[in-house]
Amino acid sequence: MLRFTPILLAALAGFVMYHFSAWRTARELDARSSELADNTLLRLCDQLAAALELPRIKVNIYDIDAVNGLAAPDGRIFITRGFYDRYRSGQVSAEEMASVIAHELGHVALGHTRRRMIDFTSQNALRTALALILSRFLPGIGVYIAGFLASMLGAHLSRGDEYEADAYASALLVKAGIGTEPQKSMFRKLEALSQARSGVVPAWLMSHPKTPDRIAAIEANEKKWRL
Ligand SMILES: [Zn+2]
Repeated sequence: MLRFTPILLAALAGFVMYHFSAWRTARELDARSSELADNTLLRLCDQLAAALELPRIKVNIYDIDAVNGLAAPDGRIFITRGFYDRYRSGQVSAEEMASVIAHELGHVALGHTRRRMIDFTSQNALRTALALILSRFLPGIGVYIAGFLASMLGAHLSRGDEYEADAYASALLVKAGIGTEPQKSMFRKLEALSQARSGVVPAWLMSHPKTPDRIAAIEANEKKWRL
């Protein structure tokens, strides 16, 4: 039992850190967000809601310059002000915005925001366990190798979430009569638009895989679904 105490403590610390981070994020979002009030986008949200047989989908604008969409740990959907401005100025179409909303809905529907708590916690425990073992053979650098391995695992897990949320969004966009084309054109634009990432939203909430890989995955799904 004593041998595992550091791992349990690390898991507990991870759990507390996650909750603090989620709480801080929710507070920040509350203070700096307002409900989406654009008629064209609201109509598209209604189309998505109808496809999901939901009365409505509420989207909030988060007042930061970064270009991103996000699903808060409490299940709310946010579009950043920077992103919304790109839409208002015509750089991003309403359908492309809808594809981002559909992606974030996927994170909520598939339970990603909740599962990340467990990933985050187990990553911490894994890091500690590995550090204990590796330090025995590689004094000094064992800790760094353990940290590197644990964060690689974390990145791998969150990339999996992105592909799942993309697939969910594709299916939803098709069902809502919007189609997957805006989703793909959005990815092509996203890379250039999302250079400046800022704010207190933690990095683990925002990681995304490479654009060409995501487009390829959507096209693979389209092929599969057509059969
Ligand atoms: Zn995502």
